[in-house]
Amino acid sequence: MNDAYDIETLGVRAGLVRSQFNEHSEAMFLTSSFVFGSAAEAAARFKGDEPGPIYARFTNPTVQMMEARLAALEGAERCVAFASGMAAILATVMGLMKGGEHVVASRSIFGSTVQLFSNILGRFGIETSYVSPTDPAEWRAAVKPNTRLFFVESPSNPLTEVSDIRALAAIAREAGAWLAVDNCFCSPALQKPLELGADIVIHSATKYLDGQGRVLGGAVLGSQALMEGVYTFLRTAGPTLSAFNAWVILKGMETLALRMDAHSKNALALAQWLEAQPQVVRVLYPGLPSHPQHELAMTQQKTGGGIVAFELKGGKDAAWKLIDATKLLSITANLGDTKTTITHPASTTHSRMTPEQRLAAGIGDGLVRIAVGLESVADIEADLARGLA
Ligand SMILES: *Cc1c(COP(=O)(O)O)cnc(C)c1O
Repeated sequence: MNDAYDIETLGVRAGLVRSQFNEHSEAMFLTSSFVFGSAAEAAARFKGDEPGPIYARFTNPTVQMMEARLAALEGAERCVAFASGMAAILATVMGLMKGGEHVVASRSIFGSTVQLFSNILGRFGIETSYVSPTDPAEWRAAVKPNTRLFFVESPSNPLTEVSDIRALAAIAREAGAWLAVDNCFCSPALQKPLELGADIVIHSATKYLDGQGRVLGGAVLGSQALMEGVYTFLRTAGPTLSAFNAWVILKGMETLALRMDAHSKNALALAQWLEAQPQVVRVLYPGLPSHPQHELAMTQQKTGGGIVAFELKGGKDAAWKLIDATKLLSITANLGDTKTTITHPASTTHSRMTPEQRLAAGIGDGLVRIAVGLESVADIEADLARGLA
């Protein structure tokens, strides 16, 4: 399967390899090892002279189908799957960098990613500088002779700031560094970072790729040459995606394009409705013309995505009241599910920051984030109207 097919087709069919039974749906291979026909075949497989599965830490046909499908969706030469999104980010650094090197990262990235870079990788001599997601000049200024990696999420969480991926790719190239984009918020159905010049795409497959809040998974994608280092880390260290989770994600990708369109349609309608509510100070959604990077977003994303953030006039009290008055929405920080989720970033995902840091980052006490699901948008609005009143 290749470029000749549209993303809807690739999501349904790419990567499928049938066993001798010729099953129609993808098979789940629950086995830790694979049998060889002879000692010579075993030797050839281990040496890499002959293709074929060896041991499920690094070769399982169900996981390989999931990798091939996601690679087709992102337009990548190769995908390496992991047990979680965090394992994928760790593997990117462990597979491609060494102690004494430097990362430039957006200030607006997932909290655990900041902990990983600063508190864990920092102990092994990898230093990270944090810069503005929306000002490419800060990235250029942060480059050092030992900079190897740029790391960004676009749109960011929870403020939906949009980074200029093409501009960051050009600065990274000049600096001799790779640009990695965590494409969790958009998925390849809405944004393809490799086409915009990025070198590496990272996924938490836990979110939209599964799409129904069932399993954890992660992936790293890029050129054959770059992914060799990432694969070697997987093979040796073992943060492996299970065959069961790979199968769930593989089936999730069959409806990815369909779901992302529906999430986007609901999110845009909800964002427009929120903008008309007198209790709402501002709505942050890349699909709205009022979003500060709306035009840039529309050049690199198909839609505004499924996440809407908004600021209430009454600060924390109003935000908590709104959240507690919901009956339909789920109070949880997860996203990328069919079920709509609502969260108060200042007291949950971003509570480890000081109030001053939150203020500087633009995460006010009245900020609420909604990851819009696939319920009727009228029902979602009615659930919020009660708390707003
Ligand atoms: C959830 C998330 C991660 C981490 O993924 P896990 O699968 O939970 O390990 C990384 N980046 C972003 C943007 C996320 O939302």
